[in-house]
Amino acid sequence: MSNRYLAELISVGTEILRGEIIDTNAGYLASELPLLGIELQGMSTAADDREQLCQLLRHALERSDLVIAGGGLGPTEDDLTRDCIASVLNEEMTVDPEIEEQLRARFSRMGREMPAHNTKQALLIPSARSLPNPRGTAPGWWVEKGNKTIVALPGPPRELKPMWKNEVIPRLKLRFPGEEILSRTIKTFVIAEASVSELVQPFFESGNPTMGIYSHPDGIHIRMVARGDNARQLLDTTEAQLEEILAPHIWGKDNDTLEGIICNWLNQRGLTLATMEDGTGGLLANIVTAVSSSGCYRGGLVACSHQTKTGWGVPAQLIEQHGSISSEVAEAMAIAARERFSADFGLGTTPVAGVDNPEGRQPGLAFIGVADAKGTRTWQQNYPPTWEGVRNRAAISALFRLRERMIELKLTTS
Ligand code: ATP
Ligand code: MG
Repeated sequence: MSNRYLAELISVGTEILRGEIIDTNAGYLASELPLLGIELQGMSTAADDREQLCQLLRHALERSDLVIAGGGLGPTEDDLTRDCIASVLNEEMTVDPEIEEQLRARFSRMGREMPAHNTKQALLIPSARSLPNPRGTAPGWWVEKGNKTIVALPGPPRELKPMWKNEVIPRLKLRFPGEEILSRTIKTFVIAEASVSELVQPFFESGNPTMGIYSHPDGIHIRMVARGDNARQLLDTTEAQLEEILAPHIWGKDNDTLEGIICNWLNQRGLTLATMEDGTGGLLANIVTAVSSSGCYRGGLVACSHQTKTGWGVPAQLIEQHGSISSEVAEAMAIAARERFSADFGLGTTPVAGVDNPEGRQPGLAFIGVADAKGTRTWQQNYPPTWEGVRNRAAISALFRLRERMIELKLTTS
């Protein structure tokens, strides 16, 4: 059994306590610590208040080997993390001339004079080393005192995450050495959380790897964490076993996204995609264009009314006959998108997100259409009827169905 290291997390900011910002940093750091073999035993939030923050820090240091503070490293009066660490460790802060010079140079590159109060961000105590922040002005702190370690990170997630990855993880691995810990996430779709849990449970009875099952908009994710010298082997074996029982439902792993996978397949064959959306309000277009590989995307139309649909090539008589929320219309929208945007694939969505739809259809009902050169496919889905949930699920289902169709047409590449 290797050493047991205990950690505690303190998020700093009155904004968090007032609910004005959501503490995403805590969730991020909490999911990272197990991979370092460090056990998080507590999380708390401090207001931008000296007494409160110092007290939380002091308590956390008594109980834990490692204390991580996020936020409160800015230049203003209410940014108190440095002050409190210094005060709790009983050390004097002095301006580090090298950091001050780097800050000055940073401002000068932006064509500005450094405001006097930014000097505060160049302060250090004897036990602290500065952690560079290429994305902002606030350097972090790495503090070692006796057998205690404190890490102070800037609040903005786009600054905190790279500093964590590039500066903190390597230092933590040296300071808290332990057995190797690896994680892998398997992503599934169209299978319920409870069924996944039941099916996969037997593979995790040994306790290594451990398993977490999480519900996300793009399906159920199974996160495995393995430890020890053969961690990679354990993950490979368990993944192969999971593939055997879940194969048709698994669409990716780790950092894969559905839209990223589809766009890569399309790009590799020089194929293109277009969309026509009702009820998803452009969400599908938004998801596809969020990936860097979206060059395959020709464009899309948000077709909320009958006139828009018929004006863009959906036959009026189909709407009259079947209603606009129907598999026939979803199919016609996919065909029209494909033709009007001169794309190889067309996608159509017609979910019912709200209760007051004019055709009186059941909320949560959705139709998805996929059209390509060889034909069309349609699907009917029934989602739990929550407004955002239905919209999200319909947009993601459309991508998932396109994926299925591309597999059917053997258009996938590794
Ligand atoms: P700055 O120099 O930007 O003031 P800072 O280290 O002092 O950096 P804060 O003032 O605590 O950080 O937060 C700055 C901004 O970063 C917040 O307004 C918020 O947008 C974001 N932020 C801070 N803490 C968190 C958090 N825990 N989760 C998500 N976002 C956060
Ligand atoms: Mg601040």
